[in-house]
Amino acid sequence: MGVELIQFLLVLAAVASGWLLGYFYRPKKRSHSSDDNASSYYKGLNYLLGEQAGAAVMTVINELPVNIETLPTHLALGNLMRSKGEVDGAIRIHQNLLSRPSLPKEKLYQVNLELARDYISAGLFDRAERLLRDVVDESPQYRSDALEHLQGIYQSEKEWDQAIAVALLRLPQRRWLKKSAAPTAAERAVECSLSHYHCEKAQPLLAAHDIKSASKELQMARSYDNDNVRAYLLLAKVAITQKKPQQALELLHSVIERQPAFAKEVLPLFREAFVDFGNRAGYLDALKRIAEKVSSTAFITECALQLAEQASSESALSYLYDAARKRPTIVLLLSVLDQQDSDVGQSAVLVTQLLDQLKAERPIYRCRHCGFSGQKLHWLCPSCEQWGTIAPIRGIQGD
Ligand SMILES: [Zn+2]
Repeated sequence: MGVELIQFLLVLAAVASGWLLGYFYRPKKRSHSSDDNASSYYKGLNYLLGEQAGAAVMTVINELPVNIETLPTHLALGNLMRSKGEVDGAIRIHQNLLSRPSLPKEKLYQVNLELARDYISAGLFDRAERLLRDVVDESPQYRSDALEHLQGIYQSEKEWDQAIAVALLRLPQRRWLKKSAAPTAAERAVECSLSHYHCEKAQPLLAAHDIKSASKELQMARSYDNDNVRAYLLLAKVAITQKKPQQALELLHSVIERQPAFAKEVLPLFREAFVDFGNRAGYLDALKRIAEKVSSTAFITECALQLAEQASSESALSYLYDAARKRPTIVLLLSVLDQQDSDVGQSAVLVTQLLDQLKAERPIYRCRHCGFSGQKLHWLCPSCEQWGTIAPIRGIQGD
């Protein structure tokens, strides 16, 4: 609400200053009187105060001359139209500006960039791509913005090779000459996306059993971001496919060391690395150790299941009671109720129903960048479009 208000006031200020500039710089030979023009501006501002902001903006644009002084107003109104979803209007405003050769060249590149953003909003990626390529080649001032948008286009289209090529252009040479230099936050974000692009490339290769190429991609993924959990999980999968359970376990242990919140994601591969290779007893010991260390609900419940199978249901139940007393979570309480005998009584049945409902409705993952939450692990946040910012939720409702 606050942001909207500020944006609205900014546009009002922009319109007001544009009106004044337009008023004073207006060529004398215009056919209609300035009183008529003034009334149409006020009509426009009136619209802006109501629902019809689109119509208001077009009224203002039609009356406002195009010159270097009024350019910021045109651009602000174009952005307003795009942010309101009126992309056609934004495109018209920006195309109108491009048809004016009176504007300096560098300013025209800025307009090109804005028009490309309109095309991206409209899903017209081909047109946006052409404009952005021009800006990259011709305008040192807007090159970096244009590269960022180009990378976004290739990412949306899942053109990973092209996304990689563009992302590399965004990293300064010194990063490769002097690897020790600490990256800026922006460079770090580019490296993080590069790491995920290589993971994206590795996944279909792994599915097609091209292990050699998949491994190569994953090593690249690690070289760009050595903390990328996804690269470790995929490398562990590769190791399991190659029948190297020990190597897989080392990778999985390092995920738990670096990012214990991902214990839940590690568990299925952990099980494969032990059970598929016939080491059930080793599995239970390892589960206990990790459950103790990171206090992961997923590991604790799996441990109880193994205890029930390998030892007795009593030992499983007492293990669960112990863990739930230390750190109660919905999932642990459900496991306790599940392990108890069938004569638990009606109240326990009701509690189970309630907990099941809570469990079904709770979000499991949350983005640490924007707070988006959901029940599926996205490596690219669907809300803020950052790579690797979503992690499993820890706490009473989570792992
Ligand atoms: Zn996010």
